Amino acid sequence: MSFLTAKNISKRFGGLTALDQVSLDVEEGEIRGLIGPNGAGKSTMFKVISGAYFPSAGSILFQGEDVTRQPWHKRAEEGIIRTFQETTLFEEFTAWENVLVGCHMQAHTGLFRAIFGRDKAREREAERKVQEVMEFMGVADRKDEMASDLPLGFQRALGMAIALASGPRVLLLDEPFAGMNPEETNTMMDLVRKVRDSGITVILVEHDMKAIMGLCDRISVLNFGQLLAEGAPEEIRNNKDVIEAYLGA
Ligand code: ADP
Ligand code: MG
Repeated sequence: MSFLTAKNISKRFGGLTALDQVSLDVEEGEIRGLIGPNGAGKSTMFKVISGAYFPSAGSILFQGEDVTRQPWHKRAEEGIIRTFQETTLFEEFTAWENVLVGCHMQAHTGLFRAIFGRDKAREREAERKVQEVMEFMGVADRKDEMASDLPLGFQRALGMAIALASGPRVLLLDEPFAGMNPEETNTMMDLVRKVRDSGITVILVEHDMKAIMGLCDRISVLNFGQLLAEGAPEEIRNNKDVIEAYLGA
């Protein structure tokens, strides 16, 4: 039984086919890259896996269970968590408040009810969790600073702390390196490895080839909504079709 499987996924928006019979098999504990040109269908694939969209055809299996028609919050409870391509921080809030509120907004699991519940003991437990994930992501030292004052790398780490607070089994990261300088990129690469080493499977959509090639165990390449290639970083780097469609540009 594989950990996470997308089977012949198609997604149409009116006349546009964003995904055309795409299949992926992700093993537990791997870092999988999902790459391809703009508009190839990467973010749509993430939304179909996480339940933000239902596919037009095909199925999603998570640990042997068919979750294709499960709503996103049910999947989040089972551990399929997506971070957003856009930065979603509240600039007027501190880093700490962002993680707390972000947790509340992300899902409906016990943790999030506890945060705003009347149960003091569970509230303290939620705050302990927020502290723990902020320490894990290396942002706890700056928890009282306004989110808008933090460098991009810290803001992204905060976004990942929010995702981690809900206890993911698989984390879908949509372009976490976008706009980062080389130093921030290196720090974020270490964080992604640390997340994986803690037992979380990672699927990564990214254009930064240094990050993709350095992090991923395997890479799947989308082009015009179709799976163009799949393999280890070295195979993908030297694949003629991939170079022509994407890497050569
Ligand atoms: P990528 O993330 O690889 O850049 P997307 O998955 O965002 O690509 O988009 C794939 C294609 O689907 C694009 O042509 C895009 O315009 C289209 N698309 C994505 N979301 C929607 C939507 N909600 N409605 C209509 N078209 C969409
Ligand atoms: Mg995208």
